Amino acid sequence: MLHGRCSCGEVSFAIDSLPRDVHYCHCSMCRRATGSAFAVLAWCDTAKVTWFGAPASEFRSSNKAVRGFCGACGSPLYMKYDDDAEIGLYVGAFDEPKSFIPTHHYGAENRLLWVDIGASLPSEECERKSLVQVLTDIPATIQNALPGKAR
Ligand SMILES: [Zn+2]
Ligand SMILES: [Zn+2]
Repeated sequence: MLHGRCSCGEVSFAIDSLPRDVHYCHCSMCRRATGSAFAVLAWCDTAKVTWFGAPASEFRSSNKAVRGFCGACGSPLYMKYDDDAEIGLYVGAFDEPKSFIPTHHYGAENRLLWVDIGASLPSEECERKSLVQVLTDIPATIQNALPGKAR
C-alpha cells in the first residue's frame, strides 16, 4: 500500500498500486490550489483510493472540477473532474512519492519561465476554451461586479 496524508494527519489515504499517470500541471488553478509554482498530479481510480480519518473538505475550483483539502490544516490533497472515474492526488501528500515519476507536462502555456524541470518530457496545453467558457468560469461574485452586468 502507498500511503499519504495531510500535514496534520486528520485526513489520510492509501492506494494499492502505482498511479496510472503522473504529470506536472502548470495551470494557474493548480498553482493557486497548491501554493506552488506547479502541481504534480498522480491519477488513480477513485474507487481504489481508501480514505481514513476525517473526510476531506472540497471546494469547487471551476465549473468542471473540485479540489480536496484537509479541513483542519488546509493541506491540498487532490483535484477531481466531475463525471470522471479518476482522482488526481497531489504527489506531495504521499509518504514516499519517489517512485512516482512524472511523464509529461500539462498546462504548458502557463509554465513559469524559471520552472527548469523535466525539459525532455512531452508538453501539452490545456484545452482551448471558448470565450463563453472562460466567462462562465469566472466566479459569480466577480461576474456581478463586471461593468454592464444587469442587476
Ligand atoms: Zn490536516
Ligand atoms: Zn492544473
